[in-house]
Formats: sequence, structure tokens, C-alpha cells
Amino acid sequence: EAKSTGRNRVGRFSPALRARASERATAQQELARGIAADQFELHYQPQVDAATGQVVAFEALIRWNHPVRGQLGPRQFIGVAEETGMIIPLGARALALACTAAANWPDGIAVTVNVSSVQLVSTGFLATVVDVLRTTGLEPHLLQVEITETGVVDDRAVTDLHRLRELGVTVALDDFGTGYSSFATLQRLPIDVLKIDRVFIVDCADQPMAVVQSVVELAGTLGMKSLAEGVETAVQLRRVQAARCQLVQGFYISKPLDAANLEEYFAATKTESGSHIHPFVRFP
Ligand code: C2E
Ligand code: MG
Ligand code: MG
Ligand code: MG
Repeated sequence: EAKSTGRNRVGRFSPALRARASERATAQQELARGIAADQFELHYQPQVDAATGQVVAFEALIRWNHPVRGQLGPRQFIGVAEETGMIIPLGARALALACTAAANWPDGIAVTVNVSSVQLVSTGFLATVVDVLRTTGLEPHLLQVEITETGVVDDRAVTDLHRLRELGVTVALDDFGTGYSSFATLQRLPIDVLKIDRVFIVDCADQPMAVVQSVVELAGTLGMKSLAEGVETAVQLRRVQAARCQLVQGFYISKPLDAANLEEYFAATKTESGSHIHPFVRFP
């Protein structure tokens, strides 16, 4: 190993380390080529008002139509995109795709976009969001950014979030309860929606709701709405509704939808008044 030689110079790395570096360089090039060749697309999963069924937003979830490996999910490439820095252009691409799509959706339906911690702490983040809003014409209040607790250790990132919020963009804290969030973190951050991680929703099927209900109450006290992630069954849906969780998302309501399925979804949920109501049955 390079370290054991005491001379960390180029050329002294172990073959394993060199192989990893070259794998990373390859991945970086592939990601760059993928962006240039428009190989990324977003699928959209509805977020629904738990009391009324009103469709309020869609979460944008990225997919890579890889020319050799087929369609890849984010867990297969976000990590390496973060390691190589490619998450910056990739994240900007996702934002642009999401805002372009949402600008053409029925009135009042928002899009919520996952933002990696690496993006959030990068200096260009705020400018990128502002630029995408300007070029797509999407009303700022119809854009939400989803961040995780790891991204907000940085003071500048927190300042950026406040700036975005002044523009009307809203902020969701993703995967709440799985990281290292303290109550102090919650109070310090400008958060509109607390997304309660799926693990708590799964548990609530056997042990009625204590945790979810407490989180919903805490969020309410801090002026935030709560969203239950990963609702997969009718029982889970009923329980999170009983806990007064304001928003729900998950396979029971709908899988993430590609562009064609999204059009069908809009048609299927449209009411006479022009709003979109989910009938709380599985879709599609
Ligand atoms: P996430 O933001 O927590 O998104 C929710 C993930 O759970 C999605 O997986 C979604 O398809 C899945 N899911 C939704 N409902 C259910 C359910 O009822 N049961 C189960 N078991 N799973 C459900 P996906 O699309 O594979 O995305 C995984 C993660 O990748 C996301 O987790 C997010 O952290 C990240 N990601 C996705 N798109 C982007 C992106 O554009 N940029 C960045 N930086 N990260 C992204
Ligand atoms: Mg998310
Ligand atoms: Mg999540
Ligand atoms: Mg998650």
C-alpha cells in the first residue's frame, strides 16, 4: 500500500488503488457522455394530501438509460457521481428536466427534486436553481428541494436554503429519522416538509403509530408539514391518516411514473373542477 511506503507520490500507489482510480475516471467519462447524449430521465411519484386525496406534488426520481446496461436506478450511479463530482452537472440536468416538466403540468402541482449534499454545499448551487427557474419559467413556489441531514452541516448551505425560501422555493428534509438529526438541527433549518422515512411507516403496521404520531406533532409545532414515505398498504395508509400526517407517498398510492404513465395519471385523477384527486386506490 502507498501509505506503508511512506511516500504518497504518484506511481507509488498499489495496483488496487490505481485500478479504483481508473474505474472512477471511466465512470466519470461515462456520466459526462450520458449527460451529453441525454441518457437521463426522470420518473415522477405523486405526493397526495392524506385527508383529501388532492395531488399536490410529484417527486422527481432519476433514471439512467444506459446504452449497454439498460435502465439504471439512482442507487447504481449517484454514489459514483458524488465521488467524481459529476453530481454537479447531473444534478443541474435533473433540476432542468424537473422544472421543464412541471412548468407544463396542471395548475398548482409542484415538483420536488432530490439534491445531494455534494450539490448543496457547492458554491454554484443557488445560482443553478435561480437560473433553471428563470429559463423554465416555473413559478418558484412550485419547486421544492429535498435535502438530507448530511448536507446541512455547512453554514453556507443553510444560507442558500434561506435565500431559496425567500424566492418561494420550499424545502423538504428527506429520510427523516435515519440520520443524525437533532431537535436543534430541525429548529435551525428552514424546512417546510418533513419526510418521515419508510422504516417508521413499515413499523407502524404492527405497533400503532407512536413514533409517527410524535413526529407529526413535533413537525407541527415547528411549523412543518409531515409526509409519510413508502406507504405500501391500505393499513399503513389508514394509520398515517389517523396520525394526522398531512401528506402521503408510496407504492400503495402509485409507483414512480414515466412520462407516458404520468399523462395517464393526470387524465385518471382529473375532476370536474380541474383539480386532481387521487381516489386512494393503487395506480396504475
Ligand atoms: P428517496 O429520495 O428517499 O426516494 C424514495 C425512493 O423510494 C425511490 O427510489 C422510490 O422509488 C422508492 N419508493 C417510493 N415508494 C416506495 C414504497 O412504497 N416502497 C418502497 N420500498 N420504495 C418506495 P429510487 O427512485 O430508486 O431512488 C432512490 C434514491 O436515490 C432516492 O431516495 C434519492 O435519495 C436518490 N435520488 C433519486 N433521484 C435523484 C436525483 O435526481 N438526484 C439525487 N441527488 N438523488 C436522487
Ligand atoms: Mg427524496
Ligand atoms: Mg426519502
Ligand atoms: Mg430514502
